[in-house]
Amino acid sequence: MLQGIHHVTAITGDAAANVRFYAGVLGLRLVKTTVNHDEPGTYHLYYGDEGGRPRTLITFFEVPGAAPGQPGGGMFHSVAWRVADQPALDFWEQHLAAHDTVVNRGDDRLAFADPEGLSHVLIARGTRDDDSPANGNGVPPEHALREIIGVEAMSLAPERSRAALVGGLGMADLGESLVVGSGDHVGRVGLHPEPMSRGAQGAGTIHHVAFVSPDADHKKWRERLTGGHLAPTQVVDRIYFKSVYAREPGGLLVEVATVGPGMAVDEDPEVMGIALALPPWLEPHRTSIEARLTPIHNPRTHG
Ligand code: ZN
Repeated sequence: MLQGIHHVTAITGDAAANVRFYAGVLGLRLVKTTVNHDEPGTYHLYYGDEGGRPRTLITFFEVPGAAPGQPGGGMFHSVAWRVADQPALDFWEQHLAAHDTVVNRGDDRLAFADPEGLSHVLIARGTRDDDSPANGNGVPPEHALREIIGVEAMSLAPERSRAALVGGLGMADLGESLVVGSGDHVGRVGLHPEPMSRGAQGAGTIHHVAFVSPDADHKKWRERLTGGHLAPTQVVDRIYFKSVYAREPGGLLVEVATVGPGMAVDEDPEVMGIALALPPWLEPHRTSIEARLTPIHNPRTHG
């Protein structure tokens, strides 16, 4: 069984503003500053909890100056996070408003969008012993964003998506939502029941969602996707995990990623995210890559 949502990857047109919001305002840790392996002159920024663990990661491909996208068919949208309790929601209601972010408070949740329009919802769902909230830039750890517990899916063909996500990825079918994982490691994929017209990928939209595979099961998941006629990619080495990708028939790009080796594989856990991390094959080009990247300011370098 897959074990929850490994990471969500979205697109930003403004890396500096993205760091200001996700590290500066949301208080996540910028756990890895690296480049898009396919476009090494642009960032791939990873945010997460203090350890940068799977299930806490939201990552962004930088597409400098990208026009705002429009969520629609074939795309995931909206990221649901677990926070502790009502006092955490009270904190976020005030903190986000103080940072010019419009919030919408419900009984057990608080919705808002990032500066590029990517929607989030914080849901009061308690704490767990193994939570390691980021030591985040003025966000008290007890109120921190703890884990990604859901995403919404807008499909071009919802029933075909349902069949693919249940048959190919082993999700449990609860009707309006699909559940990936069980027990402590569970995520929810809300499936909009009507076919949606195609969206436009751009700033503030989600590129893909990855699900957690135990390392030992990863090859089997690729075989299962192949058997389900989902045409997965080869296993790709993403340095911090290994991945396979597949675009299911409703247009959603999904990924199955390993737990290991993890974000600390190439940096000291104390300082990871501060320096630019490059994969070995790009290390010879470090100087020219660094010259092309726009400056960002990680709050950790100033404290
Ligand atoms: Zn990914």
